[in-house]
Amino acid sequence: MTAQIIDGKQVASQMRAELKTEVAELKKENIVPGLGVILVGEDPASQSYVTAKERACENIGIYSDDNRLSADITQKELLALIDKMNNDPKINGILVQLPLPDHINESEILLAISPEKDVDGFHPTNIGKMVAGQKAFLPCTPHGIIQLLQRSGVKIEGAEVVIVGRSNIVGKPIANMLIQKAPTGNATVTVCHTRTKNLAEHTKRADIIIAAAGRPNTITADMVKDGVVIIDVGVNRVDDTTKKKGYRLAGDVDFEAVKEKASLITPVPGGVGPMTITMLLYNTVESAKIAAGK
Ligand code: NAP
Repeated sequence: MTAQIIDGKQVASQMRAELKTEVAELKKENIVPGLGVILVGEDPASQSYVTAKERACENIGIYSDDNRLSADITQKELLALIDKMNNDPKINGILVQLPLPDHINESEILLAISPEKDVDGFHPTNIGKMVAGQKAFLPCTPHGIIQLLQRSGVKIEGAEVVIVGRSNIVGKPIANMLIQKAPTGNATVTVCHTRTKNLAEHTKRADIIIAAAGRPNTITADMVKDGVVIIDVGVNRVDDTTKKKGYRLAGDVDFEAVKEKASLITPVPGGVGPMTITMLLYNTVESAKIAAGK
């Protein structure tokens, strides 16, 4: 069996087209969703993420308030900016690009964002609501994974799902979403990590594997059963002398070998990645609708 590729770019562009239509409808009622973006310092990777997010906003008609700040900004100044955005009715979502410089207390900054504008879904209030199965802003990467599974026709209910990784931004939230008593949940979930005794023992019985370890070749063909669905979250730089940059991007899964056994698989790049920004846009539009009483 050769797997069908789950095309994240295509799913993301379909969702962005849906959002663009929704934003145009909202504009007729003078509702313009707004995203406040904060970038501290000049880390090139963070700069390119932020630029991609701003462009994505522009493309679907979301107003973005861009704040590129010097690396020596103080905690107090940053808190004051967040407070201003929390009280600005034009801003429906606040995004603080991580990581922040060492002298800034990151958790204090994230806690200062109003849960009503926490479109990254990192605030403990939103995490608590998500765990309790209440309506909340869901963190973007795991929410994007649910969308990819659903829109590819994968049955989540009753599935054996093995997640590799237990980070706060991927592993833990996706595990929580998949065990919810909801149509996008009802799965039987195992979460693996570096202290898991025999990873292959778990992955071999999985109907769906979500790999979020951040290490290439964590999942090889001998570790999966025929027909498995693979969601590869990992983004790793692997040396490649045939490339101009000297490296290529690879996921956590041995894509070429595993695709011969899987029924569906996401590529890297072009799988989960494009969904993350899309879900940020989705949360910002949702926030604007809630603020407008819709
Ligand atoms: P992280 O915070 O480094 O967490 C990695 C997790 O994987 C940890 O829980 C670790 O276990 C576990 N792990 C590492 N090696 C393992 C192994 N050999 N066997 C079993 N478990 C192992 O990483 P993250 O932030 O969740 O990100 C994971 C990957 O996804 C990274 O490559 C990141 O770049 C990528 N990512 C992509 C997107 C996207 O939009 N495409 C978004 C977020 C992250 P311990 O807890 O025991 O250390």
